[in-house]
Order: sequence, then C-alpha cells, then structure tokens
Amino acid sequence: MLDLDTCLKYLKEEHYCPHCNTRLSCCEAPPFHVGDGLGWGTEVLFICLNDDCPIFVNSWKRFEELYGHSSSCRYMLVPGETSGSAMMVQGKDAFTGSVLDPEKIKSQNARYDQEKEALAKLATCVADHDCTPVMALLLDEKAGQAHRKQACECLVGVNDLSCIDALRNHDFANPEIEQRVNIAIKELLKANFKKECPHCAEIVKSQAKTCKHCNKELD
Ligand SMILES: [Zn+2]
Ligand SMILES: [Zn+2]
Repeated sequence: MLDLDTCLKYLKEEHYCPHCNTRLSCCEAPPFHVGDGLGWGTEVLFICLNDDCPIFVNSWKRFEELYGHSSSCRYMLVPGETSGSAMMVQGKDAFTGSVLDPEKIKSQNARYDQEKEALAKLATCVADHDCTPVMALLLDEKAGQAHRKQACECLVGVNDLSCIDALRNHDFANPEIEQRVNIAIKELLKANFKKECPHCAEIVKSQAKTCKHCNKELD
C-alpha cells in the first residue's frame, strides 16, 4: 500500500504532457501491465488525463477504424524517467478512478494504523478483559480477514456480554467471519449461563422460563 509520505512526495512533482501541455495526473499504477502481464515496477504513474489531448483523440479514432472498439492511448511517464510513452487504455475512465487523493490515502493510513494497533493489543486483551481491540477488528470490514479471525478467537476469553449487541447489529460481508462470530457468541452466552430471547433478542438467564423483558414464554 502506498504510504502518505510517498504519496505526498509524488504529488509535489510537476510533469507536463508534451502533446497538450496539460499537467500530468499522479495515478496509482495498476497491479498489472496491460501489455505483458508484468508489474510496472512503480507505485505511481504520471498520466495525461486530458480528453482533448491529441494523442488521446487521434488514437481513439485510429483504434475505432482499425479494431472497432473503444480504446485509446494516453501519454504516460514513469517516475524518475525523463521521457514518457503512449500507453493503451480501455476507455476514457481507465485511470480517472486511480488519481492519487491525499485525503483518501490519509484515511486509509489511519484505518491501517488502527488495525495494527488493535492487532498488537489482541495478545493481552484476554488478560486485560479488554474487548476494544477485538471489536475494532471484528467491526472493521476493511481489516484483514486473518486478523478478524484472530480477534474472533479472543471473543469468548474476553468474556464481555456487552459486545453482543454491536456484533448482532453488524452486517458481515464475509459469511465465514459471521459464522465464527455467531459460534463465539453462543459459547460466550453459555459460559455465562445466559441465552438470547428469541422474541426480543434481550439476554436472559439460561434457565428462565419467561423473558423478563418481553414477558414471552421461553423454552
Ligand atoms: Zn496530453
Ligand atoms: Zn424477550
């Protein structure tokens, strides 16, 4: 992942398109080179995103006549090099989504730092009875799935019934994580001689015959 310092360094660089004199946009390099399937060997590319750039307009027309499909070329410069080249692009929007946005990178970095911090705290969360790092990972859909599984394994050990509501109200995109969380909640309740009322979802004693919250009968 591109870190903030690297990102800011590239954003300070000024390069201009020799075909239209537009300032090149700093874009995240795609993981694969369209031509040969190999990586670019760089994290960013400077690209002319001007739709009126002659290289873009002319290649669009030429490819349309030659192959009858909508693709074109944009002027591209690899960092550290003095002259760029024309790169084939699939459509007008091929790179508009990957223009470096320092705000986006800042928030990605902040999220990543929180994930790292939570992960480090997992080692002591059971001893500290601290469910915060466990919850931070389980409720963060962008956190690494392996890290979330690790957090799930601590859920019963941390033994905090107040975690359950937030977990029940969370939409898990990954069904495997959801299943693991459900199993852990079941164990957590059992270890505390509790159950969830099937009618109102409140937590009650496992031997209760009626729910003290909704007064409905329990089996
Ligand atoms: Zn240009
Ligand atoms: Zn109830």
